[in-house]
Amino acid sequence: MELQKVERLARLCETCPKMCRHVCTTHVVTRSEADTPNERSSIAYRALLRGYFFPEEAPYMYEKCATCGLCLAWCETGIDVGEIMLAARVDLVNAGMAPAAAAAVQRNVQNQGNPHGEPASERYAAIMDEFQALPNTAEVLYYAGCDTLYRQPEIAKAALKVLRAAGVDHTMIKSGEPCCGEPLRLMGYIEDFKATARKVMDGIAETRARTVVCTCPSCLRMLKEVYREHGIEAPAGVEFLHMSEYLLRLTASGQLKLTTPVHLKTTYHDPCDLGRRQEIYEPPREVLTSLPGIQFQEMFFNRRDARCCGAGGGLAATNLELVIKASKTVVNLAQDVSAEVLVTACPTCKTSFHRQTYKLDDLKTMDLIELVAMAL
Ligand code: SF4
Ligand code: SF4
Repeated sequence: MELQKVERLARLCETCPKMCRHVCTTHVVTRSEADTPNERSSIAYRALLRGYFFPEEAPYMYEKCATCGLCLAWCETGIDVGEIMLAARVDLVNAGMAPAAAAAVQRNVQNQGNPHGEPASERYAAIMDEFQALPNTAEVLYYAGCDTLYRQPEIAKAALKVLRAAGVDHTMIKSGEPCCGEPLRLMGYIEDFKATARKVMDGIAETRARTVVCTCPSCLRMLKEVYREHGIEAPAGVEFLHMSEYLLRLTASGQLKLTTPVHLKTTYHDPCDLGRRQEIYEPPREVLTSLPGIQFQEMFFNRRDARCCGAGGGLAATNLELVIKASKTVVNLAQDVSAEVLVTACPTCKTSFHRQTYKLDDLKTMDLIELVAMAL
């Protein structure tokens, strides 16, 4: 079983006083003893000992964990329950026991190239004019990702606007940007994940780019780290950056000038995949606080302790109700500091918070790149 790779973690976790429940994204919503990091890893450990899962155990592996890493940040012994869940999901897929929602995500990526099942032909619909004007090859590749293009296309629009304003030689994958494969990995379809990862790397090679810039932290993590962990290497010499890191370079070199005041009271949410998972905490803050006119205040839980938007781990597909409840935790923290804009640097987080803030008059959700585009 894939779980054998994480046996030590699961065994240690089973014998713990399990206080990490008090930070767990899903437990703080449900307050149920069945929804603790320890309970989930114990179910996986017992399945490993007996060599198979009972059908009723599958939902606990899929629908209860955002793979947010908050328990890992708290855990003295360094147990990554999210990693245990992902190993369990591989075993469940191999046993033909993946839930229908997971199988639907897999079909959507295979058939339409995105986890949402949106038509492949509409991938660039919101940015078609800009996309068609891009060259086939360029120094910098902007990899937008499915959640940006299908759910938050304003992020792609803003990113292309900023790159254009800075005079960056840039493009996207003109032959068609494949999904980064993260939804497949999260649902346990690891062989399909590796196949899509190879397609992404081929697409990058076609553009001959030396720098790949992502506005989605999960795409970045896949391209920069996780593909390599699965033996899929990037073309030699290619560097991968989050947009916030690249923006810092552009402003430091004077290539990007941000002069229009943005008079807004903001706070910043660390996306799990950007913060805890890649330790990119300061670049987004440096970009945000450098904008003329901006006011900024940290939320009580920030950086490593930042709460999760709820939509990690594929939960938006398997347990949307829980995502909606979990996102409220962060929105409340933003309201506590009287922010007018809850800024994040991830299209998935933006979608999650927007489900709450679209109803509010005094708090909006925006991606960092949208504020940067306002400051041009
Ligand atoms: S994740 Fe760490 S703190 Fe939480 S129950 Fe497991 S071992 Fe204990
Ligand atoms: S990774 Fe997040 S949601 Fe999953 S058990 Fe840990 S704290 Fe809870």
